[in-house]
Amino acid sequence: MDFQSEEPDDMSHTLTVQWTIEPQTAPRPWLACSRCRRQRPFESSGKTRLNANGQRLDAWLIYRCNECDDSWNRPIFERRNVRDISPALLDALQNNDGPWIRRFAFDIDDLRRSCDRVEEFSASSVMRRALSGRPQDCTHIGIDLIVAMTASLRLDRLLSAELGLSRARLARLVDAERLVVTPSTRKGLQRPIRNGTRIVLDLSSQPDRAEIIERALAEPPPG
Ligand SMILES: [Zn+2]
Repeated sequence: MDFQSEEPDDMSHTLTVQWTIEPQTAPRPWLACSRCRRQRPFESSGKTRLNANGQRLDAWLIYRCNECDDSWNRPIFERRNVRDISPALLDALQNNDGPWIRRFAFDIDDLRRSCDRVEEFSASSVMRRALSGRPQDCTHIGIDLIVAMTASLRLDRLLSAELGLSRARLARLVDAERLVVTPSTRKGLQRPIRNGTRIVLDLSSQPDRAEIIERALAEPPPG
């Protein structure tokens, strides 16, 4: 064993894990339902509709009122020349491609363009994978976030729930510069989670370091 490691300290004592975060419930548009005669939440039916007019195509994702089944067509694109549509997209739309539709249903920024009132859900599943480092001799954890779909979950809520640390304690760690988020933003821990975020946590002075590291690596048992 090489005790004269050339690795810088902060590398050899960092356990790097990757968390892949999948939101569980797609955002819901609230729309005036003509049949219910009031505002209702609508949900994706998982079906698209394509309409051709010469060389121009319209595509929508069909939503249904969760009370009466009345429908709403969410634009995917409108009046687009067929030549400007990628074959992959056309194929996904013609075949009601499940993964493509799911990604579109979760695209909250796009949904906001066609609807004023959007209900968001923060419940997410977190898949953990160790990338490097040995849990027994690390003092720091690096957490890389993979967030394929836009999520409305705040970073401090994610870390608090998954690592078992109170949000007050997380804020103290930030103040002591023992919790660093990159890329850094003005809102820091209060912003929604974003793909590519890296969190580095210095646990060298935390008495419950082993428990925190364990939770970074494996989901805590329910209850
Ligand atoms: Zn309705």
